[in-house]
Amino acid sequence: MKAIRRFTVRTVLPPSIAPLARLAGNLRWSWHRPTQQLFESLNPAAWQELHQDPVALLGSFTREQLQQLAADAELVRRVRELDADLDRYLGEDRWYQSLGADAPQSIAYFSPEYGISAVLPQYSGGLGILAGDHLKAASDLGVPLIGVGLLYAAGYFKQSLSRDAWQQETYPVLDPDGLPLTLLREEDGSPAQIMLPLPNGRKLQARIWRADVGRVPLLLLDSNVPGNDEAARAITDRLYGGGGDHRLQQELLLGMGGVKALRIYERLTGTPRPEVFHTNEGHAGFLGIERIQELMSSGLSWNEALAAGRANTVFTTHTPVPAGIDRFDVLQVAHFFRAGLAPDVPTEHVLALGEESYDGGDPTKFNMAVMGLRLAQRANGVAKLHGVVSRGMFSGLWPGFDTEEVPITSVTNGVHVPTWVDHRIAELAREKLGSESVEARHWEKVYEFADAEVWNLRRQLRSNLIDDVRRRLKASWKKRGAGDAELAWTASVLDPDVLTIGFARRVPTYKRLTLMLRDPARLKALLLHPERPIQLVIAGKSHPADEQGKRMIQDLVRFTDDPAVRHRIVFLPNYDIAMARTLFPGCDVWLNNPLRPLEACGTSGMKAAINGGLNLSVLDGWWDEMYDGDNGWAIPSASPAVSPEERDDIEAAALYDLLENHVAPRFYGSEQADAAGAAGPSEPSADPVPHQWIAMIKHTLATLGPAVSAERMVQDYVQQLYRPAAASGRVARAEHFKAARELAAWVARVRHFWPEVVVEHVDSLDVTDEPQIGDTVRINAYVRLEELTPEDVSVQAVHGQVTENDELAQISIRDLTLKEDLGDGRFLFSGGVTIDHSGSFGYTVRVLPRHQHLATEAELGLVTNAS
Ligand SMILES: *Cc1c(COP(=O)(O)O)cnc(C)c1O
Repeated sequence: MKAIRRFTVRTVLPPSIAPLARLAGNLRWSWHRPTQQLFESLNPAAWQELHQDPVALLGSFTREQLQQLAADAELVRRVRELDADLDRYLGEDRWYQSLGADAPQSIAYFSPEYGISAVLPQYSGGLGILAGDHLKAASDLGVPLIGVGLLYAAGYFKQSLSRDAWQQETYPVLDPDGLPLTLLREEDGSPAQIMLPLPNGRKLQARIWRADVGRVPLLLLDSNVPGNDEAARAITDRLYGGGGDHRLQQELLLGMGGVKALRIYERLTGTPRPEVFHTNEGHAGFLGIERIQELMSSGLSWNEALAAGRANTVFTTHTPVPAGIDRFDVLQVAHFFRAGLAPDVPTEHVLALGEESYDGGDPTKFNMAVMGLRLAQRANGVAKLHGVVSRGMFSGLWPGFDTEEVPITSVTNGVHVPTWVDHRIAELAREKLGSESVEARHWEKVYEFADAEVWNLRRQLRSNLIDDVRRRLKASWKKRGAGDAELAWTASVLDPDVLTIGFARRVPTYKRLTLMLRDPARLKALLLHPERPIQLVIAGKSHPADEQGKRMIQDLVRFTDDPAVRHRIVFLPNYDIAMARTLFPGCDVWLNNPLRPLEACGTSGMKAAINGGLNLSVLDGWWDEMYDGDNGWAIPSASPAVSPEERDDIEAAALYDLLENHVAPRFYGSEQADAAGAAGPSEPSADPVPHQWIAMIKHTLATLGPAVSAERMVQDYVQQLYRPAAASGRVARAEHFKAARELAAWVARVRHFWPEVVVEHVDSLDVTDEPQIGDTVRINAYVRLEELTPEDVSVQAVHGQVTENDELAQISIRDLTLKEDLGDGRFLFSGGVTIDHSGSFGYTVRVLPRHQHLATEAELGLVTNAS
């Protein structure tokens, strides 16, 4: 029989253990081991069966069981203790509270996905996990962040395999009442709702769920509400589902609905208004339009509202892959805005924000990343190399500037250590270091650990992974249609003493899941090496619409199905947070072989590193800046001149060589045996501990530990972006937006007259026939500013080395000073430049707009170079 109606009954707990509900409701338990242990102790078997989900666990108890628990004095004491601990965690001063009063009172963080815990599957991959780690680290640091996102009814899909290794997708629907969420309600108890008008008189309403991520509230909008028509209800059905209109409406809801939800939350809770808005990837960019709408409805002009909104907006771009950037048809965006989404904002202005107004841009497209950059005064990529790539990728928006000057900085991603470090490592750290937290800065003491102890722990972690692999593999084969009798072999796949290599990530083409299959015979030989075998654990989901990705998975799985190798190489379906938490710690080596430079940052290797895994990776993303020669291995990239086929051959060959000749010998201690042999005749080394390998592990933990931590990342965001953005925002808002109005008027005037600015003539004096280092070149620049004044501009001498095609390299900049008003809008600027290197030396002169409220000189994309 089918139920015609369903609802979830919330458990009512007896008073003595009532705080369990609060402990289950705040996701801090997901990175707080003592709270997890408390839940586990309530019923260990049910805890495992319910996938370590506290809300589900509490819901599974009968009234009698609850009465029994409530009568257990020891349990009641632990519940109280952990409840008090949570109180302390939520209330005490932390790092952020030591900052001055200029630190923003509140920061809004918008992201299309959040990977916080396996119980709240609202992510597809790296972007979501990163956002989850950002919130957790902000909580640990006491940063007053508020997260905003969407609640997807089915999250991302679950992956399984067909018999012939084709990816299958299912979308199990979540029941919000069974999740650690609270519905935001008006004072009268009715659900708080936001509303956006849609074309043809339709409307899109959403209610607001709140998740508590430690100290950080996360507001999730849900369009599955009674007042919506079917189509509107389905807008938050799944992550990145459907085609253009569906996706566009999700993003309108996230950005515009998200700001409306924040305003309701402020009103209901008295939370201070966010002073900074962080747009995590282009998808959330419409938040800027909603803020401009707010400002215009209070009387600001478009330009003024734009200036004020940009001042405290931070935009983070996450992909160097053009196909990874959201683009909509201009007409489609126009269609939605003409329905009155932002009634005070002229639609042409909205459209202009997303216009690809540069060489090679498509005039029919509305580009979300481009809008993100235009709506934020500060922008960044997510690793140093990604900063470089992003400056090149978006340089068309700043014509006339060298790419190095494109105003996109970088903050390298990090991972939330308490979430991703295995509890056994955390315990060892606690025991040895005597510190409460496993915070990264303590890791330097890891050098004091005994090698044998580290090695034993690594083996335990490897064994633990292997147990999980066997269980998952068997389950996967059953889904693929195999019977128990055929599956005895799964109980002995992988070997706890064999070098274990992990590879798990989404499966877009550039990540090259199947690079390892380039030479199948060579891979097979590595797997089956008589003394130094390797074993591989692989996982990853392909986007449902990506046939090529699915084919890669199929090729790989077919290879792993071969009885000759299947004990040494496995593919595990349904890569997710739960799998990842066992996988990262269990792998000795973490493999990553993307097509450089298409990996923006990558974070899985960081999670491996904090568990004592060594990275073997192409020098892309974070590894490009953090590989130091002793913390792992770099797979060399082929020259860009070769064909894609050759490139894959070359890079795969380099990978095999590294594995065979460097990685495996070090793991198996063959190097130290050789060294012992060289010292004189002796038994083959009886020491089972590969000391050089352990030395690399210790070095990795000690040096990468602090560098890859999400606390480091969030501190960087606070110091480099949030504080400056809050300062700009305060200036812009003061005295009824006086500065924003002035800046807007100034920008309009400068843009208007800029085409008339000319460097008419440049003289250089004092250059002898044989210039030497230390000589000064005096420069006189005659500049025509017409209606602009010398205060509106900087006139600069830019000098450096000159390349063969007359480009300046390694430039230095010197401001020239106003010497004389020559009348008629003409001025003489001059200054001296010191020759600071031998060889070719050159300089040029340029004029830039200058205003105290610009964040960088390139901000307006205006420059006049001497010609
Ligand atoms: C860390 C993580 C990712 C992101 O890994 P990348 O290295 O950035 O590709 C994706 N999925 C899960 C489950 C993760 O834990």
